[in-house]
Amino acid sequence: MCYRVSLLEEDFAAKLERILRDGFRLCDACAGRIYGLRGYGLSNVDRGRALKTVLLMKGYRSSGGPVDEALIKALAETGFKPAQELASKLGIEFEEKTCSVCRGIASRYREYAEAAAKAASGYEFSTFQVGSRVPPDVRRAEEDLWRLYGLSDAESLKSEANREIGKIFGEITGKEYAPEKPELVVVVDLGTGEVEVEPSPLYVCGRYRKLVRGLPQNPWPYSDERVKYDTSIEELIATPIVEAAGGEGAKFHAAGREDIDARMLGTGRPFVVEVKKPRRRSLDWKKVEEEINRRSQGLIEVLGLRRCSGDVVKRIKTLAELARKKYRLRVVFKKPVDEEKLRLVEEVFRDAVVSQRTPTRVLHRRADKVRKKAVYSVKARKISDRVVEFEIECQGGFYVKEFVHGDEGRTQPNIAELLENEVESIELDVLEVEEVA
Ligand SMILES: [Zn+2]
Repeated sequence: MCYRVSLLEEDFAAKLERILRDGFRLCDACAGRIYGLRGYGLSNVDRGRALKTVLLMKGYRSSGGPVDEALIKALAETGFKPAQELASKLGIEFEEKTCSVCRGIASRYREYAEAAAKAASGYEFSTFQVGSRVPPDVRRAEEDLWRLYGLSDAESLKSEANREIGKIFGEITGKEYAPEKPELVVVVDLGTGEVEVEPSPLYVCGRYRKLVRGLPQNPWPYSDERVKYDTSIEELIATPIVEAAGGEGAKFHAAGREDIDARMLGTGRPFVVEVKKPRRRSLDWKKVEEEINRRSQGLIEVLGLRRCSGDVVKRIKTLAELARKKYRLRVVFKKPVDEEKLRLVEEVFRDAVVSQRTPTRVLHRRADKVRKKAVYSVKARKISDRVVEFEIECQGGFYVKEFVHGDEGRTQPNIAELLENEVESIELDVLEVEEVA
């Protein structure tokens, strides 16, 4: 008994029959889509034709007997060819109608895919995704139908369009569909047929050495006597990369920054360039690196340029604060420096913790708070009576100049206080930034 009840409930064709008798005309795809979440390995067109075939068998018996003219006419009007042939044979008049739900969209997937492939042809990509915009009236028609007939296993037109256009797009271009992080997304407007192409950014990472003082990391917005060059590290690195990739601009991310008047030496500072809308992705990175270095004319030098994933941007940002840094400072003191006190400095700051209140010089853009930072080692070498060269290894985000002069007691403990001396000038070089990429 239960079996029979469930059979009745599962009478798929009966629902389509009611829909047709109520005057809706569904194309094969839309007819199949009302049970789109049922069955496997069948396209919605297959499903739709199967249901229509069942209804045609119901409406006509070739051995004679009553003919359901209304049903055959309705089926013919949906564009179902066997029903149209039968109707013509029986003299039933019919007029093929545009699909009540998709308005013909489901028959144009190849057209959309071809337009999308054409729009994408200027871009290098190996993986893609297809998205679509469904006209609001079509979406409403679809939702009304679901509600009216309690269609809980229906697939949406949007989902079908994305899949079917994607299949054809993949065949035409020979590229691979990627459920995550595709290199290219095409969005088709199913109403107007317009296609938008959205290439995902290209990420290129490497390390830079800054060989001069007075060069800012980013374009400097206001006049500043410390700035000695009319360019920036960002411009010097990003411009040749954007040109090589045929992109439309870039974002520059670095693992922290050095002062304008500090150099960045040693192994360099990690960075990532995020190229917007690149047309090319496979590039000879060694050549691009050489081009950056050639154009930079000794201001900076880039090493280890290569393609990387977008995750590196996040890592560079979160770890910039923690990455271990090594600095070299040349400090001129007011009074002669006591050699013994220098040894004391080295001892006190071996694996020490220093409390640092936000320096007065950055208070205009940073909140005033106390940070605790690790100092791993300080090495001091006297150059002359009042000049000492320090090599300081410390945690990222540490204001190392303030650590030397004390910033009027805002950094505690500090080197000047231990030396019972005052600082006249500091020259700073960054020697190492721990690899985070
Ligand atoms: Zn349709």
